[in-house]
Amino acid sequence: MKRLVIASNNDGKIKEIRKVFSGLDLEIVSLKDLGLSLSIEEDKPDFAGNSYKKASEVSKYTGEIVLADDSGLEVEALGNKPGVYSSRFAGEHATDEENNKKLLRLMKDIPAEKRKARFRCVITVYWPDGSYLQAEGTCPGRIGFEPKGNEGFGYDPLFIVDGLNKTMAELTLEEKNKISHRAMALKSMKNLLLSGSFLR
Ligand code: IMP
Repeated sequence: MKRLVIASNNDGKIKEIRKVFSGLDLEIVSLKDLGLSLSIEEDKPDFAGNSYKKASEVSKYTGEIVLADDSGLEVEALGNKPGVYSSRFAGEHATDEENNKKLLRLMKDIPAEKRKARFRCVITVYWPDGSYLQAEGTCPGRIGFEPKGNEGFGYDPLFIVDGLNKTMAELTLEEKNKISHRAMALKSMKNLLLSGSFLR
């Protein structure tokens, strides 16, 4: 069985990846499982560039097949910001609460019909021979006028999911994992892996 290393220190992500990939003939291990703690600067202008950078650098360092993701929020009225700056929107070590406050402040005069947004996630799987696959997932919605809900993380309390009329933070983890940008990207990557000869 081949081994897939997840280039993340986020236990929630690793659990989700294990669940979606459970039918694949792959042993899923984290950096922590390998006794490694690597931090790679996310300095590319888009999600695809950052996820490629993380997957390729960790693969070159470990000699393993590596999966990395990059994700964030794009708000139409803000020219798709915060985008790759989602985690540091209000400053280098900003908390989720500070980022959410900044977003609400910038959008205080924007009417309901112009608050369209989407979460995006790009996943890269990189092989030590330099080949790679990429898959993308999006989750459409709009930005609310106040935070609602206590689940999730990041911008979840402000993100009202299209068709549900609830914020992402009002969904259980199980509900979120059915519709999230990361879930969509992971399912698409699973299909790519199943359709090729990558696992043989
Ligand atoms: P990363 O891809 O884990 O580095 O995520 C970057 C940033 O995007 C996070 O710190 C959050 O601010 C935001 N983000 C990504 N995915 C989500 C999500 O599912 N909910 C809320 N915020 C998210």
